[in-house]
Amino acid sequence: MEFSPVKVLLVDDDEDEFVVTRDLLSDINRKAYTLDWVSRYDEALARVLSGGYDVCLIDYRLGAHTGLDLMREALSQGCQSPLILLTGQGNREIDIAAMRAGAADYLVKGQFSASELERSIRYAVCAAKTMERLRVSEERYALAARAANDGLFDWNLLTGEVYFAPRWKDMLGYQEHEIRGHVDEWLARVHPEDVGYLKAEINAHLEGETPQFQSEYRMAHRDGGWIWMLCRGLAVRDAAGRACRMAGSQTDITARKRAEEKLRYDAHHDSLTGLPNRTVFLDRLARSVSRARRREDYLFAVLFLDLDRFKLVNDSSGHRTGDQLLIAVARRLESVLRPGDMVARHGGDEFTILLDHLKDQTDAESIVQRIEKHLSGPFDIFGQEMVINASIGITLSSVACQDPEQMLRDADIAMYRAKARGRGRHEFFSSGMHQDIVSTMRLESDLRSAIRNEEFRAHYQPIISFEERRLSGFEALIRWQHPQRGLIPPGQFIPIAEESGLINPVGRWILREAARQMKEWQHQFPTDPPLIVSVNLSTRQFSQPDLIERISEVLAETGLSPQSLKIEITESAVMENAEAAVEMLNQLKGLGVQLSIDDFGTGYSSLNYLHRFPIDTLKIDRSFVSRMDIQAENVEIVRTIISLAHNLGMKVVAEGIETRAQMQQLCELGCEYGQGYYLARPMDSTATASLIASPPRHLWMPEPDEDLQYAMISQV
Ligand code: C2E
Ligand code: MG
Ligand code: MG
Repeated sequence: MEFSPVKVLLVDDDEDEFVVTRDLLSDINRKAYTLDWVSRYDEALARVLSGGYDVCLIDYRLGAHTGLDLMREALSQGCQSPLILLTGQGNREIDIAAMRAGAADYLVKGQFSASELERSIRYAVCAAKTMERLRVSEERYALAARAANDGLFDWNLLTGEVYFAPRWKDMLGYQEHEIRGHVDEWLARVHPEDVGYLKAEINAHLEGETPQFQSEYRMAHRDGGWIWMLCRGLAVRDAAGRACRMAGSQTDITARKRAEEKLRYDAHHDSLTGLPNRTVFLDRLARSVSRARRREDYLFAVLFLDLDRFKLVNDSSGHRTGDQLLIAVARRLESVLRPGDMVARHGGDEFTILLDHLKDQTDAESIVQRIEKHLSGPFDIFGQEMVINASIGITLSSVACQDPEQMLRDADIAMYRAKARGRGRHEFFSSGMHQDIVSTMRLESDLRSAIRNEEFRAHYQPIISFEERRLSGFEALIRWQHPQRGLIPPGQFIPIAEESGLINPVGRWILREAARQMKEWQHQFPTDPPLIVSVNLSTRQFSQPDLIERISEVLAETGLSPQSLKIEITESAVMENAEAAVEMLNQLKGLGVQLSIDDFGTGYSSLNYLHRFPIDTLKIDRSFVSRMDIQAENVEIVRTIISLAHNLGMKVVAEGIETRAQMQQLCELGCEYGQGYYLARPMDSTATASLIASPPRHLWMPEPDEDLQYAMISQV
């Protein structure tokens, strides 16, 4: 300390403290210390971090900050100088906090003498130096440890003799005496593919072209496998500059190489199916595109394949099953393609396929049919038989082949068309498809904002009880009040909502709104039994795992009694996965709500299941009702459905009643309820309220001569 002065920095916003400290330090030894002073936090931080001080004294109080803040900040940024905290009064908490923050010491202002300050500084500086030495020695140790892991060698270039250290031999699985000291022992073990460039790299260094020799190559291990080596060396030259010796080390880098290989593989493959990924596919596609530009006779096709209702598999059977199904589909696709073709996983349940070297469109068509045929056979997933279809969009390089991304998009658009036309089919892209897709996509994005902006409206269509000659309730039917397009009927947006998953928020909205509204009407217009509201549930909502929870939430929230809510589910939705449906319907029934099967007669119903469903009503599809007076056969179908329902203890609602004759016939056949334009059209809540207040008599007492073909109340 006597030789070079200890550089001290004082951080304090009070200049008097600087004077006091300076005096204290000069009391100890004027020449032993230099003292700098800063008062502002920002400047202080920069100075502390500058590394120019042997020790920093930091006041606890620093304007808006505290000295602790400064210490923490400085230490977190790698400050190496010891820091001593100064405070106005002794405080155990600050003391402990200072220690935790990494302070070298803690002094209470006005309570320490010159010699105590000197002692504190001396200790702090000394401890910091020790720490620094420790750090350096740790680094040195790490270096040494690494060197111990390397196999050293020393090669006499003139004789070909090499000294291989025991570690060098050990890495290859050999004992000391098992490898001779000759360069052939080395080169002969290098992988045949790598030995050429290894020799070239050695020569380049020996010729003086590279300052250091370095090469990575594979070597045969004694156990028969290959291990990756990194070799570094330096030539020793004679007076004439000719290399006569080369010494260096060899390190086993197999683990690193494997990790790199895995990264490279992962970057190009889909981890679930092992198929090439999107990047690789686009790469390959780019090559085909540029080839097609050069050669007129070269034709190829891009297929975009999306599994139908895959989401349903995931939701109903779980992700593990879904994953297995994707893997099985990937294997089948691979097996059906020709050697030069490529199948990749695009993401989710989407696959892309490149069909190379086609003769013409029919050629593509026949391969696509083969793919469809192959996929349509049942899969065995965890012992469960599963069937899945795919919708396929195809684009040919002859149609438009500007860039790979565009081709993929066109195939995607064609795939959408295939979905829209009923799924499980394929479509070739044509330029007219663009427009349709754009408008669907716009509708989808509008739908998102519609949810936020509450653009939906609930309309209600009366359901009449023929038996009791009264208004039994309403079916809630959703409409979308689009800001530009006006009122959009559900048929135009429910399928889009289903496909995009937006059906869940939309479905929740209508359920809540219908329940709230019905509760209000029940209060306003009490009847015995109370009015009922029917709400439609889409296929996708029906397979939502939290459906029951959602419905009971709405009931609790709105106070509507469960008996006043009827859930309508289409026949195809329940039959699609009948076994799961039994379970779900039972749970719904457990809530106390009523259940109705909608559009009955349009799907394929298994009687086996029908009797197991806890259903209250069947709703005969309006296609039968509307043709009753045209085709006698339809009357028979309606009669059969009604008697089937009655046998199963269910009541029947006829929907789509448009004429008086239809209504009369239905009454005669024993149908209990009716709904249709003849009775009343769906209408908004205001019109519905006035209908409840004073129902037109024709609703349940149709006068023979009254011309009420289409109801008086027609809003939509
Ligand atoms: P749906 O459940 O079978 O509803 C009956 C449909 O038939 C309604 O069409 C209704 O306006 C119409 N309709 C009623 N009486 C007659 C008639 O006498 N003649 C004719 N030709 N049609 C009649 P809308 O409101 O356009 O709804 C169509 C479909 O959209 C519904 O069929 C239902 O499947 C679905 N939908 C409507 N609202 C919702 C909803 O809130 N959620 C869900 N998931 N689907 C809904
Ligand atoms: Mg319905
Ligand atoms: Mg219906």
